[in-house]
Amino acid sequence: PTELCMPGPRLTWHRPTSLARLLQLKAEHPYAKLVVGNTEVGIEMKFKAAQYPVVVSPAAVPELNQLEATDKGVEIGAAVTLTNLMKYFKHLIATRPAHETSSCCAVVNQLRWFAGNQIRNVSALGGNIVTGSPISDLNPVWMASERGCRDVPAANFFLGYRTVDMKPDEILLKVTLPFTRKYEYVKEFKQAPRREDDIAIVNAGMRIRMEQDNQTGGWVVAEAAMAYGGVAAKAVRADQTCAALVGKSLDQGTLGECLRLVQKDVAISDNAPGGRVEYRRALVASFLFKFFVHVANMLE
Ligand code: FAD
Repeated sequence: PTELCMPGPRLTWHRPTSLARLLQLKAEHPYAKLVVGNTEVGIEMKFKAAQYPVVVSPAAVPELNQLEATDKGVEIGAAVTLTNLMKYFKHLIATRPAHETSSCCAVVNQLRWFAGNQIRNVSALGGNIVTGSPISDLNPVWMASERGCRDVPAANFFLGYRTVDMKPDEILLKVTLPFTRKYEYVKEFKQAPRREDDIAIVNAGMRIRMEQDNQTGGWVVAEAAMAYGGVAAKAVRADQTCAALVGKSLDQGTLGECLRLVQKDVAISDNAPGGRVEYRRALVASFLFKFFVHVANMLE
């Protein structure tokens, strides 16, 4: 492709063909909008009267469209569409050792219920992350996967309601999703009013790594991370719950303690925006319970 610039009466559209040129455009026009699928920006312009005089398409910038498995994990360019992401992850799941691809499975499963084909075919990973929506179906999964370039861990990237840690002249280049290790499990959760093509009431991403206790030989938790969406202005991590898990076995006592702590970590006040408070609290607990059962089954 060649570089394009199409000036119009209300906006000018740029299509750079290198990362250097993209960054130069962003430096010249810090408030320029990067647009891939337009499934968020289009709504802002049509229904919220937003005006973006400079629009930049990263579709022809190779670095933003790369999909590559490295020693560390999978590198996903921010302009990769959700459909292409899903296809590539399915390929990794089929070709790599099963224990490495638990996070890939979680992403594929979550994408199955993310919007519909039309949206997934055009919309990109970067647009979903940068929008910073509290009900993004993928952000809790990235947050639970942690070790997630400036290298910003996904867990610290979301600052508030639709606000992310990015300066106007910065772009999201790529996401690195680490391969999981042996006895490390990642799982996605989403409850929406209907299964197909609907936004979440509550969603979550959870990761745990188990190890065998030297003395007893039983399984105990070595690491845990959990993030919930749809419960506050941004996706939140259940850090106290995860800290309490470390060193414990997945028994009834640990479950009871975690169910108590998760309601503190993910406190939904009685008058929380979005309503359905009791239901959402129940979903928070129920996802945790389901994750316990899932991990126990994996260890059998
Ligand atoms: P765009 O609209 O092109 O961009 C969105 C924002 O991200 C803009 O501010 C843009 O400037 C910025 N941006 C994009 N790429 C970069 C980059 N590389 N660097 C810096 N900034 C960047 N979301 C869910 O989580 N779950 C759902 O089930 C779901 N269902 C949907 C159903 C419908 C009908 C619609 C319209 C949307 C739905 N969404 C859902 C939300 C939306 O589809 C996603 O957020 C999508 O991934 C956005 O990608 P995009 O390429 O279309 O973003």
